[in-house]
Amino acid sequence: MSTTPRIAIAGAGLGGLVCARVLQQHGVPVTVFERDTDAHSRSQGGTLDIHEDTGQAALHTAGLFDQFLALSRPEGQEWRLYDRHATLIRHDQAGDDDLSRPEIDRGQLRVLLLDSLAPGTVRWGHSVRTVSPLPNGTARLHHHDRAGEDFDLVIGADGAWSRVRPALSDAQPFYAGVTLVEAHFDDVDGRHPNIAHLVGRGTMSAKAGRRSLVLQRNSKGHVRAYINFRGPRDWHAGLDLADTQAVRARLLAQYQGWHESLLDIVRDNDGGFINRPVFILPVPHSWQRVPGITLLGDAAHLMPPVGVGANLALLDGAELARAVIAHSGIDEALDAYESVMLPRAADHAKTAQQMLTTLMPDSDSDDAAFPDSLWPADTLPDSRPAHTS
Ligand SMILES: Cc1cc2nc3c(=O)[nH]c(=O)nc-3n(C[C@H](O)[C@H](O)[C@H](O)COP(=O)(O)OP(=O)(O)OC[C@H]3O[C@@H](n4cnc5c(N)ncnc54)[C@H](O)[C@@H]3O)c2cc1C
Repeated sequence: MSTTPRIAIAGAGLGGLVCARVLQQHGVPVTVFERDTDAHSRSQGGTLDIHEDTGQAALHTAGLFDQFLALSRPEGQEWRLYDRHATLIRHDQAGDDDLSRPEIDRGQLRVLLLDSLAPGTVRWGHSVRTVSPLPNGTARLHHHDRAGEDFDLVIGADGAWSRVRPALSDAQPFYAGVTLVEAHFDDVDGRHPNIAHLVGRGTMSAKAGRRSLVLQRNSKGHVRAYINFRGPRDWHAGLDLADTQAVRARLLAQYQGWHESLLDIVRDNDGGFINRPVFILPVPHSWQRVPGITLLGDAAHLMPPVGVGANLALLDGAELARAVIAHSGIDEALDAYESVMLPRAADHAKTAQQMLTTLMPDSDSDDAAFPDSLWPADTLPDSRPAHTS
């Protein structure tokens, strides 16, 4: 860049933070505006498998790969697939030296990225309200208090319900027909031995028809469960979602005929349930270039959670920062970034939707088999063919 650009990032998620980190490494100042009031104001979610060609590549660019590796859990790549009778259908072991998709708690990764930034980079408790392009090719960011501030580049890294996206496109997330209900288990090895046995060191999934039950081991003996089903978004109609017993009874009714040991996932969790309907953006989601404004991560390509969203957000963030550093102007940088990111995102989103349809068909019949073609490489964390026992 011939002059130092004024850059704002909306959202301190993984994508926004890695973008800020790479810019700062190259001496480009940046401010991140984040709606959360501080780094620990809410749970950051479960475990993520970070892929070699996307998330790990971004962490290499950010100079944080070794620190990531020290925190990550290669053994967490272990994966078990059951049918609804709790028959083990497939078991992929994970060697400690297999670094293709090590797991890490999302919270740990976010702290790693936050700690890598210059103090004061993130302005906490700061919601972005809207962004509008200006005739001179810059952009005006409207803060939550309606004050406006002009930047040469505003990056929308503010997730599914982005407030930056409307400056580029009319697309709105829509319900994908599938809901995940999240549940938690603490101290599984001491207090929930059946859950510990089911999940092993990594992930387990039990599947039949339009339903599945998934467990994922996080660090420190914590396990997250996802109770997944295809169905209407208002599956909980007439229920108070804070009434744990009532929600549990409604969920158990959906899993009649499933093995008792699997039903423990719905019966024995600590605390309540969190309803997470799956929303997605249309595919492909694209836009005509608008000077001074772009998107990354979920804001650009919200897709079903089949294990790529966080990885792509990291890659987008690192690549966008590199484009800004490498080009003489913001326009050229956005041309370079969007011409690669948009088609890549469309490919992944298409595959993710196909995966969702295959994994959660609109049918209640048990699957006769779980063919390998269900797990194409590069889409699910659970696609490794090696070490099947
Ligand atoms: C249950 C579940 C499991 C998943 N598992 C995986 C997985 O295993 N692997 C994987 O790769 N992906 C996974 N994903 C997808 C992944 O979570 C997302 O794709 C990823 O978090 C996107 O990162 P991001 O930085 O784009 O957005 P986000 O992580 O959503 O971050 C956006 C940030 O912007 C902030 N923000 C929002 N609005 C504003 C505003 N107006 N002003 C300022 N700040 C704002 C938010 O507070 C947040 O900090 C999963 C998703 C779900 C729902």
